[in-house]
Amino acid sequence: MKYNVVNRGDEISVRTNNRFHELAAECGLTLDPEHPDIVVSIGGDGTMLHAFHLYADRLDQTSFVGIHTGHLGFYADWKPMELETLIRHMAAGAESFRTVKYPIIEIQIVTGQGMETYLALNECTLKGVEGTLVAELRINDERFEMFRGDGICISTPTGSTGYNRSLNGAILHPSLEAVQIAEMASLNNRVYRSLGSSIVLPKHHHCDIYPKKGQKILLTLDHLNMQLSDLVSIRCMVADRKVSFVRFRPFPFWNRVRESFIGDIVE
Ligand code: NAD
Repeated sequence: MKYNVVNRGDEISVRTNNRFHELAAECGLTLDPEHPDIVVSIGGDGTMLHAFHLYADRLDQTSFVGIHTGHLGFYADWKPMELETLIRHMAAGAESFRTVKYPIIEIQIVTGQGMETYLALNECTLKGVEGTLVAELRINDERFEMFRGDGICISTPTGSTGYNRSLNGAILHPSLEAVQIAEMASLNNRVYRSLGSSIVLPKHHHCDIYPKKGQKILLTLDHLNMQLSDLVSIRCMVADRKVSFVRFRPFPFWNRVRESFIGDIVE
């Protein structure tokens, strides 16, 4: 079993990282940052996003697992005190765990320079740098609406509990192969009109967003961001590839949602 560890860089994450390597060597795991079978993220959800983008070009050969050194994360459900158990499971090999595969989104960005394709684990957002974003949305090549507002968030099912949730988007179970498009503070009055609610597109549908020419756009992909002054369009859809997480024990998605956002139920 070949592995690598990505950590957040704070004191407790670095300490956990060092202990992980010690125990892994004792259990016969091989450190291989180039070709890991399993990538362990130590920190928070942001660390998992970082790990995902580091290994985005080998998602077919790599699975992820997260240890949280702060509060329970959506992608990080192991605690540092459980390190030995986790490593023992990893050393026991593929029979001791199962892999779950979740959909991600593909974003094709067309600028004056050409087209680039990216993947996102949580979401892609578009915002106007100097004020209102004005953009035409086309679904499956047909004009859908003219959006005016703060921005647009296109999320994966696992990302639906992140930024999307703050925009009142629905939480989608990650077994659904879909992308969700949520509005950020749309302008809706007698002159301007967009749908107002978020929409969910199935696999094999696509949405193109054409910002009005001449706008400076802030585009984010998970924790990454870029400013573009010559953005022509972005196309978003469910990617052909999926992200794999290793599960050494069950932690159903809805339990994760309840524990993260609701906590103990008071009778
Ligand atoms: P950050 O340090 O600002 O952390 C954002 C918070 O989002 C953290 O508490 C993290 O645990 C949580 N988070 C991340 N992914 C999540 C998910 N899939 N489900 C539930 N919670 C999740 O930023 P970061 O660590 O670099 O993470 C970037 C992510 O932050 C973005 O992908 C986006 O989802 C989220 N974000 C949310 C808002 C908002 O809710 N208003 C704004 C910006 C970014």
